[in-house]
This record gives sequence, C-alpha cells and structure tokens, in this order.
Amino acid sequence: MKNILVTRSSMPTLDEYIDEIKDIWDTHWLTNMGAKHKELQKKLLEYLGVEQIDLFTNGHMALELSLQAMNLPKNSEVITTPFTFASTTHAIVRNGLEPVFCDINPIDFTMDVTKIEELITDKTSAIMPVHVYGNVCNVEEIQRIADKYGLKVIYDAAHTFGVRYKDKGIASFGDVSCFSFHATKVFNSVEGGAACFKSDDFGLDLYRLKNFGIRGPEIVDGVGANAKMNEFCAAMGLCNLRHVDEEIAKRKKVVERYNERLFGIDGIQLNPVQENVKPNYAYYPVIFEEKTFGSSRNEVFEALAEEGIGARKYFYPLTNTFDCFHGKYDPSLTPVALHISKRVLTLPLYADLALEDVDRICEIIIKCKR
Ligand SMILES: *Cc1c(COP(=O)(O)O)cnc(C)c1O
Repeated sequence: MKNILVTRSSMPTLDEYIDEIKDIWDTHWLTNMGAKHKELQKKLLEYLGVEQIDLFTNGHMALELSLQAMNLPKNSEVITTPFTFASTTHAIVRNGLEPVFCDINPIDFTMDVTKIEELITDKTSAIMPVHVYGNVCNVEEIQRIADKYGLKVIYDAAHTFGVRYKDKGIASFGDVSCFSFHATKVFNSVEGGAACFKSDDFGLDLYRLKNFGIRGPEIVDGVGANAKMNEFCAAMGLCNLRHVDEEIAKRKKVVERYNERLFGIDGIQLNPVQENVKPNYAYYPVIFEEKTFGSSRNEVFEALAEEGIGARKYFYPLTNTFDCFHGKYDPSLTPVALHISKRVLTLPLYADLALEDVDRICEIIIKCKR
C-alpha cells in the first residue's frame, strides 16, 4: 500500500537547482537582498502583475510586518475570519491588535461580506480577509466598505499564488496582499513569502521592518524583526517559478478528476467554480454532511487514514477556539465557520498526484456513503 500525503512539495531537478546556486559560490553573498533576491523580486512583480513587491523569510512575517508597517492605533480592532491557518489571527494578536471575527459564507468559505458592517465600531482600523483555498473574496464589496469607513485592507493571499480576478493579479486588491511560499504551497521557495502593495512610503517602512528597523549604518529608528529571504530560498523560487504554470495545469487535471468522481453525490459539497477567476487549484476541500452522506467527516478521515491516505481537516479547529486564547472569543458568533470546520476535509492535491490515486481516494470515500 502506497501512502499518499495531503501535499507534496514541487521541486526543480537537482541539476537545475545546482546551476542556479553556482554564482553564490563566486560572490559569497548568502543573504541580505543579494542578486537572487533581486531577480526573484523582479520576476514575481511581472508574474503576479502587481505594482510593488517585497520578499520575506516566510508568509507569516510578511503578514505580521505588513500589519506593523500600517501603524494602526494600539488595541484597535481588525475584522478577520476564524476559518484560516493560525498565522492570520496570530499576526493580528502579535501586533497588539484585537481580532474581531466575521463569519464566512457557506459557498466559497471566504468572509461573508453582508456581516462585516455590523462588526464595525469606532475602534475598527482594518479588515484582514483570507482568499481561503484559493477562492477569491468579494474584493469589490470589501473595498466599498473599507472606503466608506476609512479602513485598511490587508489580504492574506497565502493560498492564491497566480490567481487572477477580472484579469488582474489577485494581489492588486486591498492596501496589501501577502503570499506564502512555504514548501506546501502552489509555489514555494522552501520557506518564503511576499507582500504586494502600492504605496512607496509603506514599502520603505516595511523594508526596514524586515531588517531590524535599520534606516542607515548609524540609524535604527524602527523596532523591526529579521525577516529577510536568503539567497538559497530565492534560488529555489527562481527555479520553481519557471515551472509553476505547468504545475498549476497538472493540478487542474487532478481537480477535474476529483470533480468527475465526486460531483452529484448526495451529502457532498465541493469547492465552487468562481466567475471571472483564473484559479490555481491550491486545495481540494470537500464538505461531508453526515445527515445525507451517512458518514461523518471524521469517519471519512479515518477510512482514508486506514488506507494510508493523509487528508487534512483544514481548517479545524477555528482560530477563535485555539487554546492560546483561553475562551476569549465565542465561536457561536461565527456559526457558518463552525459548521463548515466540523465537516470539511481537504483531499490530497499536488501536481504529480496520479489520476489512479485520485480514483482510489474517491472509491474509499464513495464506500463511506450510506
Ligand atoms: C501558509 C499560510 C500562512 C503562513 O505562511 P508561512 O509561509 O507558512 O509563514 C498564512 N496564512 C495562510 C492562510 C496560510 O495557509
């Protein structure tokens, strides 16, 4: 029996990577915005279709430092979603800001834009939505609300590398959009991340924050962190970027196979196809409704695990129920997110997943149907 994990990192051939890192042995320049960093930055700017971009050691630091660079009032409130990876909520809390959790919509699992305005108070300073699973948020409505109340918009775009909406790069929406280039994402630089933005001043502040707040050789005027992308990661990014379109095309084939097998089964809800969106096929979430499907999400999870298949309960638990918050937030205020988090399973999905393996996974799932 072959074990299948939920994802498998994309890698170039060893020869391609070795070729890419050879110059590092000539220059001895290993980090601190070297040639590879600069080249990747330039290539990504074009590929993603954004005005400005800076690179980071990981996606979390891009998010956390982007929030810090916004200089939001201390203890102010940031409206966000609990249906996400820990990073989103932690970026808010670690900045001394207060997360206010908005529910999600049950169709594409992004923030329910009809519920944002009722959460706005005189302490609200920003909205931090997530393009979860690569599904695009209602960016127009979010911007309308932000403009109406004078709020900043920071997108967690970790799942949307290469996604386009109405023919624009997804990171051209909001004040800032942050990507993750973690090993498990559609595009990786081993670890890495990027923030995309429009304002020069903001970009300069952000750049300093990723390098200890250093302004010049003798001036340190910001309390920064160290979040620079090193040359080896940038080199991995350069290699993977050459193949990313091909990888996304292969993911599409896997998704289509899953759709063929699982569409129309009573009690199963699949990820939607969104209008005006060029998708990246980042994840394959499935919602199991026990009443109609006959087996619970956890039962399907166990049945797959018994056959060596590692599906994941993304995103369960909700971030507003994490132990570290000691019951501070009430998840019953985000009932749709709570409902979905108890029923969702993301199935294995990566470029080289064999279609026969997809068939095997679907057969196990279909056997759970009662
Ligand atoms: C992966 C991820 C992050 C964090 O990215 P890292 O590069 O792992 O730090 C943030 N938000 C979401 C939704 C993610 O999936």
